[in-house]
Amino acid sequence: MKKILIIEDEQEIADLLTIHLTDIGAEVTHVADGLRGLNLAIGQAWDLIVLDLSLPHCSGLDICRQVRELSASTPIIMLTARSAESERVIGLNAGADDYISKPFGISELIARVNSLFRRIEAFADATADGRLKVGDIEMCPVNHTVTVSGEPVTLTAKEFDLLQYFLRAPNRVFKRTELLQDVWGYTHSGYLHTVNSHINRLRAKIEPDPANPRYISTVWGVGYRMPAAA
Ligand code: CA
Repeated sequence: MKKILIIEDEQEIADLLTIHLTDIGAEVTHVADGLRGLNLAIGQAWDLIVLDLSLPHCSGLDICRQVRELSASTPIIMLTARSAESERVIGLNAGADDYISKPFGISELIARVNSLFRRIEAFADATADGRLKVGDIEMCPVNHTVTVSGEPVTLTAKEFDLLQYFLRAPNRVFKRTELLQDVWGYTHSGYLHTVNSHINRLRAKIEPDPANPRYISTVWGVGYRMPAAA
C-alpha cells in the first residue's frame, strides 16, 4: 500500500485529496500545519508527499528543500497558485517532481499521481538488472556502455556520469549548480559554463536532433530535465 502524506492547510482541499487518494488504494496521512508536516515528512518514509506552498509555521518550499537534503528520491507534488508562473519555477527549483496549480480538477491530480507512480515502478523494473533506460537510450553502468536505438555511443567519463544522473531520475529537474556539485564536485558557480558545454556535447552524441533536444531539455530559469516519456 502506498503511503501518501498530504500537507495542506485548506481543509476542503485536504478532504477531497484524502478521499480520492484513499480511493486509489493509498494510505493517506494529512496534516495542516507546516512544522508538523516537516517533522512527519522527514521522520518517515513516504511514497509521495503532496505539498501546499503556503502553510502556517513553515512554508512548503522549506519543507521541500529539507526533504530533498535527506532524500533525493521521495516524490513530491507541489500545489501552487494558478497564475503564478514564478511559483512553479520556485517549486521545481526547490526539488519538487511535479506541480499542480490551484484550483485543480481532482481527476487531473489523480492522473498525475498515477503517472508518477507508474514512472517509479517502470524505473524500478528497468533497474532490477542494473540497466537504465529512457526512450531509445539504454545504459549499462556495470559495463560502462551506452546505446541509442541499439547503436553504441562513446562517452567521456563525465558525459557518462552526467547522463546517468538524468537516467536515474526521469522528469526530475536538475539545477545547474546541483549538477556542477554532484558530477564535478565544484561548489563555485564560476564553473557553470562547464555544465552547459558538457550538456551540449552530450546532446550532440545522444540527441536525434541536438537543436531540438528530446532527451535533455532546458527548463528555463532552473536547469535541465529528461522527460520520462522521451
Ligand atoms: Ca495554503
